[in-house]
Amino acid sequence: MYPEILASPIEYLKGVGPRRAELLKKELGIFSYDQLLNFYPFRYIDRTRFYKVSELDADLPLVQLVGRITDKQTIGEKHKKRIVAKFTDETGTMELVWFQSLKWVDENVMRGKVYIAFGKPNLFNGTFSISHPELETYPRPVTLTGNLTLQPIYNSTENLKKHFLDSKGIQKLQTLVIEQHLREVKETLPAYILDKYKLISKREAILNIHFPATAQALQEAERRLKFEELFFIQLQILNSKQQRTLKFKGLRFDKVGDKVNVFYKAMLPFALTNAQKRVIKEIRLDTQRGVQMNRLVQGDVGSGKTIVALMSMLLANDNGYQACMMAPTEILARQHFHSLNALVGTDFLKVAVLTGSTTKKQRTILHQQLEAGEIDILVGTHALIEDKVQFKNLGIVVIDEQHRFGVEQRSKLWRKNSVPPHILVMTATPIPRTLAMTLYGDLDVSVIDELPAGRKPIETRHLFEGQRLRMFGFMKEEIKKGRQVYVVYPLIKESEKLDLLFLEAGVEQMRYQFPLPDFNISIVHGKMTNADKQFEMQRFVEGKTQIMVATTVIEVGVNVPNASVMVIENAERFGLSQLHQLRGRVGRGAEQSFCILMSGNKLTREGKLRLETMVKTNNGFEISEIDLQLRGPGDLSGTQQSGVLDLKLADLAKDQVILQEARNTLIQIFEEDPSLLLPQNHLLKIYLERKNKGITFDKIS
Ligand code: ADP
Ligand code: MG
Repeated sequence: MYPEILASPIEYLKGVGPRRAELLKKELGIFSYDQLLNFYPFRYIDRTRFYKVSELDADLPLVQLVGRITDKQTIGEKHKKRIVAKFTDETGTMELVWFQSLKWVDENVMRGKVYIAFGKPNLFNGTFSISHPELETYPRPVTLTGNLTLQPIYNSTENLKKHFLDSKGIQKLQTLVIEQHLREVKETLPAYILDKYKLISKREAILNIHFPATAQALQEAERRLKFEELFFIQLQILNSKQQRTLKFKGLRFDKVGDKVNVFYKAMLPFALTNAQKRVIKEIRLDTQRGVQMNRLVQGDVGSGKTIVALMSMLLANDNGYQACMMAPTEILARQHFHSLNALVGTDFLKVAVLTGSTTKKQRTILHQQLEAGEIDILVGTHALIEDKVQFKNLGIVVIDEQHRFGVEQRSKLWRKNSVPPHILVMTATPIPRTLAMTLYGDLDVSVIDELPAGRKPIETRHLFEGQRLRMFGFMKEEIKKGRQVYVVYPLIKESEKLDLLFLEAGVEQMRYQFPLPDFNISIVHGKMTNADKQFEMQRFVEGKTQIMVATTVIEVGVNVPNASVMVIENAERFGLSQLHQLRGRVGRGAEQSFCILMSGNKLTREGKLRLETMVKTNNGFEISEIDLQLRGPGDLSGTQQSGVLDLKLADLAKDQVILQEARNTLIQIFEEDPSLLLPQNHLLKIYLERKNKGITFDKIS
């Protein structure tokens, strides 16, 4: 089928030629006709609205008018030389001005003729003018691309503009390629899917994304192209999941035995939350089906993921298999080791730990015990996936805090047993659903969306600078009750010096408010040596200081259950997810905890929305959704390596419905036709084959 006309090099298009082709490639990555067609406008201007001269206002953005050139003069000398034309309609006269291309204007803009002029109106000395207007003859000629109502605006660059490839120039190329080659554009989606979701054809969509006849037509084109975009991403994700299912059988955990039962009845120190029960049930179903489980469990900090992991591992033990649990750091691994032992006791279960600092001697013993099947659960770091570590029969792997374990590393684990073990990934970083479907689309997702009962939700307040004394008063009361307080200051590279001064001024003020010896302050910031930081933190951990003044360094890894107040200075300068992370530092003990967001009086709309969100909810998922709406996916963790940032039209914040439709369609397709053998799914098969050969998305026109 290849080469096709649309794959032709862009220099063959009339009016392009080698030099401009070179630029199009370099500046916009457009090498071929179809890549040009896939270069969509980034916005449109409504060309149905005509203004009258009498209606002009200097605040208006781009406008268009119909009028007659009633006069044309060249005035000024040298670099001040310009052409000024009088442009008149029935309501008045304005000026059109050119400073460049004077020769062309002189020869082509005709006195006495009627034109459509388009541009930004300026007001000078009581007269309106437009500099370098776009001029079209009136009435507009009818073309295949229609009478423009919405004019496409394309991104261009300085370099391209120098070669007449501004937005208008690109529009000309689009007109040409569409007039000559639209017929060649092939459908990419199966007809039954177009029918089902009432999507317009690819050809119509391409025409209308560039030259929409109406707003409605544009909307339909966008919907169709967004659907296609999200559909093919999901096709790849779900296909690799499907391939995995076809290739690997899964271990069957048929029975619930003594380990699970005894633990559940006799050792579990509390009742499970409904969310925990639901997720355990999902895992139980997964592991019975004879298919490898690949499940992601999302749950805010403190939602109780460890118990879920433990019960899954006990289930493996009950069915004669070993389990292992990986953590991203040595500290976390050892913490897990201790808390698992505390929960189950060493008689009941043999839990072992393996990290980078395990000695060679210990390691040798561990390896032997593992291979002999004497260890039920192995906890550890990356060290676990070293090839030397062999299990007798590994049944399940739990990966805590997945960020540092990619697909690559996960698949290494599968080779630890002849049949790959079940995989359970846990994360405390809440991410929006659409993002999860894309980033972890090959995993099934469970959500623990409920905190254990009796946990007091953190109370959050927003105070303005003028209420600072109230905040100090509150701090004082809490400290008198024996609690500890964090005060966090923003610190960013660009304004580091100023930020540190601000922090120091804050400390001064606190020293005045909170005189020694009742109050001691720890200070931790990025400019200190590690030893000093460690020393200051330790004092706070031991309760020798009551206040910890810090920059965001405390975000990671600090756990002081007695700290019950988090004050965030200049809170409007922090992102939502960062605020949520910081707030998560308190609320770890039995006491009611508080978060106080301090801000100046002047807030941007977005800043205000962030603080309102924090006050309104403690729910990490809700916060992550709003964060996505505000910032787009680019700044959310995990997106950088994924394809989601390359989306051309679709927007994960706004196009949830389309994404869900695309994904549901594919899930159903794979259920009915796992290997895509039905004729109706032929196009999908072709897409995957081309993708495997490295032919890019753009070339599938
Ligand atoms: P995370 O989801 O952050 O890993 P953990 O599993 O560490 O959370 O649990 C946080 C704390 O909550 C632990 O002390 C744990 O024992 C406790 N916990 C977990 N589930 C429950 C529950 N259903 N009821 C009461 N406390 C629970
Ligand atoms: Mg945890």
